[in-house]
Amino acid sequence: MTEKTVTPTVNSAGYDVPPELRQSVAITTLDKIWNMGRRYSVWPMMFGLACCAIEMICTAASRYDLARFGMEVMRPSPRQSDLMIVSGTVTKKMIPQIVRLYNQMPEPKYVMAMGACASGGGPFKEGYNVVSGVDQYIPVDVYVPGCPPTPQALLHGLMKLQEKIDRESITKVRWYQKDEIPAIPVPILGPDIIDPRDNAAIREMASRKAAPAAPAAQPETAEAPAA
Ligand code: SF4
Repeated sequence: MTEKTVTPTVNSAGYDVPPELRQSVAITTLDKIWNMGRRYSVWPMMFGLACCAIEMICTAASRYDLARFGMEVMRPSPRQSDLMIVSGTVTKKMIPQIVRLYNQMPEPKYVMAMGACASGGGPFKEGYNVVSGVDQYIPVDVYVPGCPPTPQALLHGLMKLQEKIDRESITKVRWYQKDEIPAIPVPILGPDIIDPRDNAAIREMASRKAAPAAPAAQPETAEAPAA
């Protein structure tokens, strides 16, 4: 009787799998397992700001079906959310609430700027009441262009986010490092929006304005010639 020869198999991670284990054991990396868990359970926060939010609602409805991404559970609390979809015009009145909600989300957390308004101000850019892009305050992972983006565009953005998650490593992502990540200072709404991170520059500018003006140079007078 001739013995069946089995060629050694090396899996994609580069490990030699013994023949008796090939049908029952899979070898992979911790990063792949970790990322797979996260990519299929990104729970978006349930909030919308303007017209783009209607497209986001359509995406979650039956025709487009967010459930196939494991994202159908839109959470009404930032404490249970992994993804903030900023869908609409970011006004100066709203940005303090957006930053506060972002700070309240547990890590790992992601942000998507949906539409021209959230990405850079859109048709209201430079308007008296509009922030020129939410990325001036919170870090954005994926930008979805359009005014408004279609549900298909939003789905494409969600797939891009999944690809980004696939490339992450738990040893390198910022939220698993030793140092604590400080919360983003919440902007203050006064007559205009104030970013507390600009406080030092604002103080310096104010002190320069308040400083007494240097005395004006006196015109030189010519000495009278001796008689
Ligand atoms: S990008 Fe266009 S559709 Fe979206 S919130 Fe702004 S104006 Fe509305």
